[in-house]
Amino acid sequence: MANYVELIAKKRDGFELSASEIEGLIEDYTLGHFPDYQMSALAMAIYHQGLSDAEMRTWTRAMLYSGRVLDLSELGPGRIDKHSTGGVGDKISLPLAPAAAACGVIVPMVAGRGLGHTGGTVDKLESIPGYRADLSVAQFIECLRANGCAIIGQTEEIAPADRRLYHLRDVTATVEIMELITASIMSKKLAEGIEGLVLDVKVGTAAFMKNLKDARALAEAMVSVGEGMGTRVIAYLTRMEEPLGEMIGNACEVQESIDILRGKGPSDVRELVVTLGGAMVELAKGVSEEVGRQAIADSLDDGRAHGVWSQMVERQGGDINGLPVHSREVVVTAPRDGIVQGVNGLEVGLVGVQLGAGRTRSDQMIDPVVGIQMAASRGTEVSKGDPLATILLGSSGEASSEVTERLANAFELGDDPVEPQPLIIDRIG
Ligand code: URA
Repeated sequence: MANYVELIAKKRDGFELSASEIEGLIEDYTLGHFPDYQMSALAMAIYHQGLSDAEMRTWTRAMLYSGRVLDLSELGPGRIDKHSTGGVGDKISLPLAPAAAACGVIVPMVAGRGLGHTGGTVDKLESIPGYRADLSVAQFIECLRANGCAIIGQTEEIAPADRRLYHLRDVTATVEIMELITASIMSKKLAEGIEGLVLDVKVGTAAFMKNLKDARALAEAMVSVGEGMGTRVIAYLTRMEEPLGEMIGNACEVQESIDILRGKGPSDVRELVVTLGGAMVELAKGVSEEVGRQAIADSLDDGRAHGVWSQMVERQGGDINGLPVHSREVVVTAPRDGIVQGVNGLEVGLVGVQLGAGRTRSDQMIDPVVGIQMAASRGTEVSKGDPLATILLGSSGEASSEVTERLANAFELGDDPVEPQPLIIDRIG
């Protein structure tokens, strides 16, 4: 067995780990020999020292082969997935997977749970009673064959090293590491047996990458790692300052996703679904970006995407009619007249976590009903007493005055008109 303390010290002191050292560490971590407390120390050392390009590629490959790498070639060509680096109110995968499948893309999506202040696709889907995100690989393939898309969580079979490390990083303040985000995302995505991947790399105060330079570096690293392993990758850099859409939580985000699947819903959410989904169609069918976008928009407007969604949820055991709905509301109002200069999405996300929509410990249960409904966004003109946001609560739980104040303070009010900011910043790959 390797001397773990020596390896942690080697990275702490800024030296490069060899390929065999990284492979050994990831293997031992997967088997449970390299314990979480030492992995946390190593992750913190990486936070401070970084990983070289070679270390990052080896780390990714080792996590990829910590489990099973699916061979889905029997399903035919056009197997494309999408992944986001995480944002507040980011429910894009829910409408996007069925919309892409309605356009003939095969979407084998292995999604994550909430991380830090950001929500997770699996947590959102599990707010639908009965929804099973823990399908076996055989059941996953069966759903894909029947439906064209399926969304599951990470299993012990697919990238188990990332599954463990993801939870650990979430509770040890080691999420914001470009090389580990790259390895985390690319290992689980490349294990899905896909031919192409569309990435939504978020940038801004409510994203893990706070500035454009870091976000671009992350996008370029993921495109390069993916292409290096034979998968075509397109990355979009998208703004994440304010929450996406109006809903932040779990069940309420499912409801908003259904609105999008019915051709309605907030324009920013629709724009991302159309852009990212369009790129998936582009990769799967070899059409132009514009043709891909139009195909997705049509599938949302003519009901096909919603049809695929209903079948997917039903096939994965979910009862959409049982989606829990909040029973109480606490409205947070504007303390003065003014124009919303900006909304601090990070704070809104953290309020969501405080209410129980996310976790602060990896073993914590999520409350599927609690959430926040935004009533104002950047540029909205408000009068004193107008609603800024509404806290959604179930039959238990309270919104303390600390929480309501924190939410109110997330809205910066001023007197100057504000310019709109583009949601999509750039495309790479
Ligand atoms: N999303 C992931 O899947 N992994 C990370 O490390 C960060 C965001």
